[in-house]
Amino acid sequence: MEPAQLLINGLNSRESEPGLQQSAGAGVDQPLLGNRTSMTRLSPKNRSNRSRSDGTDFIQTDEPAGGSGSGGGLAGNAATSSAALSSPAASSAAGAAAARIGESSIADAPIGETSRVTKRRGHHRKNSDPLPHKPSDLTLLQQFDELATRAKDSAEQFMHHVWTRGWRLTPHCRLPDWLKDNDFLVQGHRPQLNTFAACFKSIFRIHTETGNIWTHMLGCIAFSGIAVYFLTRPSIEVQWQEKVVFAAFFLGAVLCMGFSFIFHTVYCHSERVGRLFNKLDYCGIALLTMGSFVPWLYYSFYCQLSPKIIYLSLISVLGTTAIVVSMFDKFAAPQYRPLRAGVFIALGLSGVIPALHYVILEGFYSAIYHASMGWLVLMALLYITGAVIYAVRFPERLFPGKFDLWFQSHQIFHVFVVAAAFVHFHGISEIANYRLTAGDCIA
Ligand SMILES: [Zn+2]
Repeated sequence: MEPAQLLINGLNSRESEPGLQQSAGAGVDQPLLGNRTSMTRLSPKNRSNRSRSDGTDFIQTDEPAGGSGSGGGLAGNAATSSAALSSPAASSAAGAAAARIGESSIADAPIGETSRVTKRRGHHRKNSDPLPHKPSDLTLLQQFDELATRAKDSAEQFMHHVWTRGWRLTPHCRLPDWLKDNDFLVQGHRPQLNTFAACFKSIFRIHTETGNIWTHMLGCIAFSGIAVYFLTRPSIEVQWQEKVVFAAFFLGAVLCMGFSFIFHTVYCHSERVGRLFNKLDYCGIALLTMGSFVPWLYYSFYCQLSPKIIYLSLISVLGTTAIVVSMFDKFAAPQYRPLRAGVFIALGLSGVIPALHYVILEGFYSAIYHASMGWLVLMALLYITGAVIYAVRFPERLFPGKFDLWFQSHQIFHVFVVAAAFVHFHGISEIANYRLTAGDCIA
């Protein structure tokens, strides 16, 4: 709720309360806040010696000297004397005054401490004030104090967000349709941000996309670093053929995670930008799959040119098909989530055909020890598990609103993709080592 609305609602709700009606009807301007005005002008010393017959001075007795009370007191008096509290405008004025009164009484308390301060004052009031009160006056003052505290907290939170950050987190139900994707993530969404600068600044704030951005940004940085290290090895260490086939994998990994982290960053820029980068995100998955096949097929069929060419062509055609399908606007629609997962799972599972071919050709032992088949199976399991989690939106489906910021299905999927890419890198490194130490192919 907006702070202004909260103020108005808060005041309106109090209009119907007996204590307030009674006081307002009896002329609130005389005893209550008028007394507070004079009280807040007193020196700290005088405050503590002051008569407590009106039941208001306890508010200030435990305040440090030099508080900012007088402004609030004056405002409170002015507002209250004019407030019949029967119209929204009057309620707002009184609400503003109440907020300032609250400021005067809790100005020295840090944010979040106000309720504790209020409680402490309540305790003080109970134990050390021996003089009788008019119960209705005390109740009204307590109500104002509570209301002012709450209003001030809300106003401070609002100012903190809007002035220092520029935008506020938005619940899913308030997002524009094109930003609505996963309705099990209830709160914590970014609104439309309109500029790339705002989108990239949002990388450093906590919202529903923070985990998605960072998982693939760090993965992208990691694979970029490994790629630079590998590709700059002297040729005596790594030959150019190795560099080319590994470069295909590195390119796929860096583009996949790079497109992904950029997509998740600028997704809320505008509908047009979001849609464009969403397509690039899907392209990245296809490119990583294709790039992963290249070194594996190259080393697995090191000495067999025909299967190598056929399977490389097959994965190129399937990968390109997946990219073309991703280009359709409808492909990104929430209802096609299972189709998307299915297309990419099928693309990955197309590797079963060359894997079976290898096992038939070389045997199971060779598949495990010379072709890193164990690592490849683990990689496939990670990808498939991640894709299934993504498709069924576990765990947020079971606990909507509980995984808005962390551990939502998309983040788990991202982590699985990074893990699978590392597993694959390890696997193809082992195959390459075997092939390069096994000697030349027999003609
Ligand atoms: Zn993603």
